[in-house]
Amino acid sequence: MIQSIRGFKDILPGETGVWQKIEKTAVSLFEDFGFCEIRLPVLEHTELFSRSIGKDTDIVEKEMYTFADRKGDFITMRPEATASIVRAYIQHRLYAVDPVQKLYTIGPMFRRERPQKGRYRQFSQINAEVLGVDSPLVDAELIFMLAELFRRLLVSDVSVHLNSLGCPKCRPGFTKALQRFLAKVTTQLCADCQKRKDKNPLRVLDCKVLACREAVADAPAMIDHLCAECEAHFATVKNSLNNLKVKFEIDRRLVRGLDYYTRTTFEIQTGSLGAQSAVAGGGRYDGLIESLGGPAQPAIGFAIGFDRLAEIVAAGNNNAAGGIDLFIAALGEKAKTAALEWSCALSIYGIKTETDYSDKGLKGLMKRADRLGAGHVLIAGDKELDEGVAILRDMSTKEQVSLKIEGIIDTLKSKLTAK
Ligand code: ATP
Ligand code: MG
Repeated sequence: MIQSIRGFKDILPGETGVWQKIEKTAVSLFEDFGFCEIRLPVLEHTELFSRSIGKDTDIVEKEMYTFADRKGDFITMRPEATASIVRAYIQHRLYAVDPVQKLYTIGPMFRRERPQKGRYRQFSQINAEVLGVDSPLVDAELIFMLAELFRRLLVSDVSVHLNSLGCPKCRPGFTKALQRFLAKVTTQLCADCQKRKDKNPLRVLDCKVLACREAVADAPAMIDHLCAECEAHFATVKNSLNNLKVKFEIDRRLVRGLDYYTRTTFEIQTGSLGAQSAVAGGGRYDGLIESLGGPAQPAIGFAIGFDRLAEIVAAGNNNAAGGIDLFIAALGEKAKTAALEWSCALSIYGIKTETDYSDKGLKGLMKRADRLGAGHVLIAGDKELDEGVAILRDMSTKEQVSLKIEGIIDTLKSKLTAK
């Protein structure tokens, strides 16, 4: 038997309802906030990611699906969407129309990580990004919108973690202080962090190995090294969030696994996912657009882990699967032909209808109606059809009424939509 690839999973019929609900909620929320959708390719030139995410990051060093295509060009299955959004902004000169672009995109990402619950090799993200605005007010607006999504999805076990990563002016001073600290605790760090501490010291703060977390507990924090501008920017973000009544915690250790972040950085964490506690992450990346060859425009955005969010929403979802409005139990060939016509006609009016074209008897058909959670069953045999009637059974009250075939669509429409 051929099975799916490790870390690549199916989202089964019983699960897709939650995915659709999240997607609908997110799309309508983003549009309420003036965002437009952008759809991006899954394959990009490898260089796009190595230049943006950074060469010395876990993603670029060991997690990307990269291969040479037939002509020998290196291409990569995108591990994240922000780099592609920025590429599109530059390539299509979206900034020339309006430097301010509010964009969202939803789709699969690929990272070759060790698969476990909440961590897959193909997973989906929901991204929203605002390009071209440096005001800290937009940071607050974006975080508010993210918190509002969780509120609309009735997910309450989440907290907003907030930090500032400074800018190219104040970051180097902090990096030096951090390196001095790391030199003192070198022996306690994991093999990866031994390398990170020289090449990319900030990454050490992001390491998930417990010993490393303990070793950096007293490490210096970026927020104590912010320059005046970054300090003021961060203060406005915090004040605005307070005014908007968005609860947050300052997380002095919070960094992100990608190099391009500056200033405001945030993560949404939850207690309900076990080890994989981050449901969404984001922040400013003021230098990225310019570094990829575009205009000097700032930007901020976030990515929600769709799979992790779906797990949380599914766990809190106690109401049973939707069910259908009507099951047509058609007995005999003539009845099946009529059932096809009726179910198509009713579907047009938004009445969820299902029928069965097999040769089951009435008992078997009623069983299937039960399994589908049908509110009503329309029983039609060739005999009834000859008499010009069909029987409608209300599955909750067990009441049955006889309906005339003539005008039956209108009759069903009024009976089934009145509820
Ligand atoms: P983590 O620290 O859990 O590895 P990350 O910092 O690598 O996350 P980002 O690159 O910021 O994650 O992506 C944003 C969100 O995408 C994460 O908060 C998480 O919910 C989700 N995510 C990241 N990697 C995976 C994965 N391999 N499988 C499922 N979801 C993921
Ligand atoms: Mg990761």
